[in-house]
Amino acid sequence: MGGLGAFLKKQWGVVILVLGILAWAADVIGPQVLILVAVVSVFYFLLAAPLRCIALGRQGRCRNNAQGLLRGCWIREHKWQGLKALRGAEGESQGPRTALMQDRQQMSASLGVAVGVLSAIVACADFIFK
Ligand SMILES: [Zn+2]
Repeated sequence: MGGLGAFLKKQWGVVILVLGILAWAADVIGPQVLILVAVVSVFYFLLAAPLRCIALGRQGRCRNNAQGLLRGCWIREHKWQGLKALRGAEGESQGPRTALMQDRQQMSASLGVAVGVLSAIVACADFIFK
């Protein structure tokens, strides 16, 4: 239920990124605006996107709802688990790649970060060389 409204509320980072790129490609907005949109959406994927907790416990992977790639669920030990996984601080066999590629949600969020960073770079280049 909720339809488009609920979708927008949860996936606004994806929506602004796609709209930003389209608007920039259509010359509706300048590269400065696209840089801003890209940065905001990268933060969205890292800190706010609806995902599953990626923390690994003795019982296997924690499947609680979490927000953002870098943050775990409400369990204190799981907070910032994604960040730890990225740094590889645990010294486990699982590197950042496996931590972030565990399921489709994680993969699409990682992809979102990549697209966001890439469009920020392209927008910077556009801004500088125009
Ligand atoms: Zn967790």
